[in-house]
Amino acid sequence: MWSCLAADRIGFLLSYAIEDGAMTDNKVRKIVIVGGGTAGWMAAAALSELLPAGHHYRLIESDQISTIGVGEATIPSIRNFNLHLGIDENDFIRATQGTFKLGIEFVNWGKPGDNYIHGFGSVGRDQPTANFFHYWLKMHQMGHAPSLEPYAINTVAARMGKFSRGRPDLPNSPLSDLSYAFHFDAGLYARYLRSYSEARGVQRTEGKIVDTVLRADGFIEAVVMENGQRIEADFFIDCSGLAGLLIEQALHTGYEDWSHWLPCDRAIAVPCESHGTMQALTRSTAHKAGWQWRIPLQHRTGNGHVFSSKFMDADEAQAILMNNLDGRPLAEPRLLKFTTGKRKKAWNKNCVAIGLAGGFMEPLESTSIHMVKTALMRLISFFPDRGFDQVDIDTFNRLCDNEYAQIRDFLICHYKVNGRDDSDFWRYVREMDVPVSLQRKLDLFASHGRILRENEELFPEDSWLQVMHGQGMRPRSYNPVVDQRSPQDIADFLNGTAQVIRKCVDAMPGHAEFIRANCQAGAVKKAA
Ligand SMILES: Cc1cc2nc3c(=O)[nH]c(=O)nc-3n(C[C@H](O)[C@H](O)[C@H](O)COP(=O)(O)OP(=O)(O)OC[C@H]3O[C@@H](n4cnc5c(N)ncnc54)[C@H](O)[C@@H]3O)c2cc1C
Repeated sequence: MWSCLAADRIGFLLSYAIEDGAMTDNKVRKIVIVGGGTAGWMAAAALSELLPAGHHYRLIESDQISTIGVGEATIPSIRNFNLHLGIDENDFIRATQGTFKLGIEFVNWGKPGDNYIHGFGSVGRDQPTANFFHYWLKMHQMGHAPSLEPYAINTVAARMGKFSRGRPDLPNSPLSDLSYAFHFDAGLYARYLRSYSEARGVQRTEGKIVDTVLRADGFIEAVVMENGQRIEADFFIDCSGLAGLLIEQALHTGYEDWSHWLPCDRAIAVPCESHGTMQALTRSTAHKAGWQWRIPLQHRTGNGHVFSSKFMDADEAQAILMNNLDGRPLAEPRLLKFTTGKRKKAWNKNCVAIGLAGGFMEPLESTSIHMVKTALMRLISFFPDRGFDQVDIDTFNRLCDNEYAQIRDFLICHYKVNGRDDSDFWRYVREMDVPVSLQRKLDLFASHGRILRENEELFPEDSWLQVMHGQGMRPRSYNPVVDQRSPQDIADFLNGTAQVIRKCVDAMPGHAEFIRANCQAGAVKKAA
C-alpha cells in the first residue's frame, strides 16, 4: 500500500515537472535574447526551431536604439542555415529583395588598376597527387598560362553576369563546384526571421533595457526595462550590438583589440539606385585608406566606405564614397564606428554574446553573419543546463577564439600582401608585423605555392590561393610532383578544364534573368 502511494506521488511529481517545467529539474527554461537585429532574430529563429520543446523565448528590442542597418552580403554557409530552418530559398530571396553572390571582386587591391575575383568554389580540378594550382603555376612560370580566372567557374560566370544553382548531382561537371551565397536587405531579413520566430512561439518585447540585475555569484538574474518591468531568465543571449549591453556593460568581460592589424575603424554607409548589369558579385574597391563595398540588391544597391580614422577623416571618406556611387543616393550617409576585435569570452556565466556584441571584424569577406550562424550551431551543441558546466563554456569559447583568429588572418592577408605605394595607410599595412599563424601561411605559399588548411578553418585552399595570387604574390616554385606530367599534357589538361567551364557558363541564364524567373520581389512601396 505504502509503495503504491509513493509511486503515485512520484508519477504526479514527474508529470508536473514535465508539463510545467517546474524547478524539479535542472533544465534551462527561460531564454531572453537581447536585441532584434540580424543576430537577435537569427538566434530566435534557430533556437525556437532546433532546440527541443519546453523553452520559453523572449526577444527584447528597442525602437529607440536602431539596428546597425548594414550586413547585406553573405558567404555560402548561410544556405545551410536556411536549410536547417527549412526556409525556402526562392521565398527568402523574394522577401528580402535578395540577389545571388558567386564571390567578391577586388578592384585596385594589389595595386591601382588590378582586378581579381575571390570566387566561392574551386579553381580547376585537383589531381590525386597535387592541387590544380601547381599545374597552372608550372605553366605560368613557363610563360604559358597568364591568368587563373578561366579555371574557376564562379569567376567566369560572375564576369559574364551569369548565374545558376550548382549541380552536386553531377559530380564530374564543374557545375558541381558552383557554390553561392546571397545579398539581402538587412532590415527585410530581420523582418522575415521575426515572423518565422513568432510563428514558433517567440515572444517579442519592445522597450529599452536600462539596468541588469546580477545574482551574488555574478550570474545575470534579470534585465530591467525603462517602464520598470523586470524580466528574469535562466539564460541570456546578448545580441545588443557593438555596445555589448550584457556581456560588457553588465559582466565586464573585456575586449581584445586587433586594430593594430586591421586598422579600419569607421564606415560610412549609403544606399543608391541600382544601375547597369546586376552581377552576382559583391565589389570591394580599395581607396587611399580603406575600401568601398558595393552590394547589388533587387530594389537598390548598398554601398559603404570602410576606412581608418588614423589615416583619413570622415569628410574625405564621405566625399570619396559619394563620388563613387553607381546611381542617385537614396538616403543620407551614415557614419558607423567600430573597433576590430572580440570579447575575451563569448560566453561568460549565463550569457552568450552573439553578433556584434561578441566582436567585429570588418566586412571584407562578409564573415559576420556566418559567425552568427556558427555561434548558434555551437551553442546548440553545447547547450547548457542550469549548472552551466565550466568545461562546456571553456570549450565553446576556445572554438570561438579559433574561428576568430583564423578569419582575422585571412582578412589581414588582403592588406599585408599589397604592392600599393600611394598612401601611408597601404605602406603601414604592408610593413606591419602580422600574427605568426599568418606569417607561416605566407612563407609556405611564397616557397612552393603550398597552402595548408588547418583545424577546420573556414576558408579553403582555393580561397587563400585566389586572394594571395590576386594580391600579387607569386611563389618561387611549384610542387615538383607535377613534373610527372609533360608540359604538353599539362597544357592539354588546362585547356580542357577552361573549355568545359566556358561551355557550362555559356549555357547558364543571366543573373537578372534567373531572378526574374525564380524569385523576383514585388516593387518596394515608397514612403508617403
Ligand atoms: C560597416 C559594416 C558593414 C557590415 N557588412 C557586413 C556584411 O556585408 N556581411 C556580414 O556578414 N556582416 C556585415 N556586418 C556585420 C553585420 O552587420 C552584423 O553582424 C549583423 O547585422 C548583426 O548585428 P547585431 O544584430 O549583432 O547588432 P544590431 O543590428 O546593432 O542590433 C542590436 C539590437 O540590440 C537592441 N538593443 C541595443 N541596446 C538595447 C537596450 N538597451 N534595450 C533594448 N534593446 C537594445 C537594438 O534595438 C537592436 O535591435 C557589417 C557591419 C558593419 C559595422
